[in-house]
Amino acid sequence: MTDPFEARGMRDKLVNSLRQKGITDEEVLRAINTVPRHIFMDPAFMHHAYTDKAFPIAAGQTISQPYTVAFMTSLLKVKKRHKILEIGTGSGYQAAILAEMGAKVYTIERCKELFIKSQQTIATLGYNIHFFFGDGYLGKPEYGPYDGIIITAAIPEISETLLKQLKTGGRLVAPLGEGDVQIMTLVERSGSDTYNYSSHGTFVFVPMLKGTVN
Ligand code: SAH
Repeated sequence: MTDPFEARGMRDKLVNSLRQKGITDEEVLRAINTVPRHIFMDPAFMHHAYTDKAFPIAAGQTISQPYTVAFMTSLLKVKKRHKILEIGTGSGYQAAILAEMGAKVYTIERCKELFIKSQQTIATLGYNIHFFFGDGYLGKPEYGPYDGIIITAAIPEISETLLKQLKTGGRLVAPLGEGDVQIMTLVERSGSDTYNYSSHGTFVFVPMLKGTVN
């Protein structure tokens, strides 16, 4: 893995711009400053890796904007050794940020090409992340319950199936809605049958689709 000096300088600037946009979680900012985002992107877009923008990856999908990754990760309140389920591995960048923060990461992707490619990228960085090929609508109950669940595709509604995979005290963060924009939603499980929902602004995500593609 090559992480040139210039890339490190660009990450410093990116982190400063995220601070200016209101990100305050120092562990999140440290992880963004550490993980080389350019290796998750198509080499054609490499010079864009440290601008605060979403970019195309394979299979018509996108790597989320750094601000969005930082914002969602802050809402999750990740602590070391937290067990976190990510739905929508994509490039693997969000999973790497969580792993860099010391979380035990389980991530699901429905698209075979991305499932394979993201593992190759993560292998060059050496994070220990558990990858699964499958439909994230089902979650991964056999490894749960989780301290946090992060959904990185637009989900029309949050099912009981996923909510039940949260620990009591656990947090689920997802862009909720079917339209052109989604509402960033935090669900906190405060008891076995009590869930508190809160809204955190609007974002644009690719849709979460059912089933898998080979
Ligand atoms: N977290 C990613 C960005 C995700 S883009 C990153 O850091 O790069 C959304 C991803 O969700 C895409 O890769 C898409 O294939 C995947 N996806 C969509 N529906 C899904 C489903 N039902 N289960 C699992 N993954 C899904």
